Amino acid sequence: MSTFQAPKGTYDLIPPNSATYLAVREAIAAPLKNSGYGYVETPGFENVELFARGVGESTDIVTKEMYAFETKGGDKLALRPEGTASVLRAALEANLHKGGNLPVKLWYSGSYYRYERPQKGRYRHFSQVGAEAIGAEDPALDAELIILAHQAYRSLGLRDFRILLNSLGDKECRPVYRAALQEFLRGLRLDEDTRRRIEINPLRVLDDKREAVQEQLIGAPMLRDYLCEACKTYHEQVRELLTAAGVAYEDDPKLVRGLDYYTRTTFEFVHDGLGSQSAVGGGGRYDGLSEMIGGPALPSVGWALGVDRTVLALEAEGVTLDIPAATSVYAVPLGEEARRVLFGKVTELRLAGVATDFAFGGKGLKNAMKSANRSGARLALVAGERDLAEGVVQLKDLASGEQTPVALDAVVEEVRRALG
Ligand code: AMP
Repeated sequence: MSTFQAPKGTYDLIPPNSATYLAVREAIAAPLKNSGYGYVETPGFENVELFARGVGESTDIVTKEMYAFETKGGDKLALRPEGTASVLRAALEANLHKGGNLPVKLWYSGSYYRYERPQKGRYRHFSQVGAEAIGAEDPALDAELIILAHQAYRSLGLRDFRILLNSLGDKECRPVYRAALQEFLRGLRLDEDTRRRIEINPLRVLDDKREAVQEQLIGAPMLRDYLCEACKTYHEQVRELLTAAGVAYEDDPKLVRGLDYYTRTTFEFVHDGLGSQSAVGGGGRYDGLSEMIGGPALPSVGWALGVDRTVLALEAEGVTLDIPAATSVYAVPLGEEARRVLFGKVTELRLAGVATDFAFGGKGLKNAMKSANRSGARLALVAGERDLAEGVVQLKDLASGEQTPVALDAVVEEVRRALG
């Protein structure tokens, strides 16, 4: 039998590269943790209805890309394709919005699943870190989230990203625009599928990447010309707050994004080194979503940043993260008695907070020292019978090769001193 492989469109995170993924997740989460966002974790699957209603029945995500299935018990579930609907569902279920403490600010990190055609930067299993601020309509909240994402990317050392910003209007002005756009689109030469889209979700047609479609869209009515006064003022305030925070953005009147639930502020972070899958993250305001999934009116805003594409962006810019070696000390026993004694020292060091590893499997000295070097440790603890007879172990600086005997009961202290 041949060996198994990861399913199509997926890949494994394995050392040493996996450390970069962890660091990226942490870097994206750090500004959120620092700004009043609490950690939330929801199941990897939900009732399929939540996504059908919450993400939108007409979106590609729901119609084509969702891993939906029926359980043996007859439940209709789907692997989560995105985070917002689940997080809002969880907040409503726990009545977080009733605590009189709005907005409810939450962040999350996890795996998402979409049955897409795999290519570089587009996978069937990918990972996002996201944030949602639920239950407040305040341009400062929209600005806060964009600023925090910007801060996260900057802290990773990324420079070649841009922020695209748009307003999608609200339930007052968007329907008027929608009708005007539909009227315009119906007059174009489009294929059957796209014609259907005009009736269900005409804004998505603007997003069509095909040149033959884009050509015909010149002169299409723009949402920006239809925004009501309230939406205009709101958007202007978001823009001013971003500018005041020194966060540069580009107005992109065509930015619509793939999900149905967005209102007013929408934004996308794009990276110029990624080719066709250039969106590293995106989000926006979703004032109507709570009601769509059976909750009360709760205007909210959020984003999700893709971890996989952020790692690709780091590679594209040639940024390597400064990730400290996982292991500081590596213990190499020579003989049975040394194994017993050094293993005890390893446990002691670990309890003292020193990252320590051990040459398992009874390796010879040469092999064990190779492993010590490979581990990235700065120090090795080496001991043989003669050392033990003298009550010492050898503390070896792996960079300089310098070796000093250290009394057994002073190991933790001496290691700490040597590590600085
Ligand atoms: P979306 O919910 O589609 O706006 O996705 C938000 C972010 O998640 C995107 O900007 C990507 O960075 C990431 N993402 C979405 N779909 C995929 C995918 N199939 N593979 C890798 N990353 C993805």
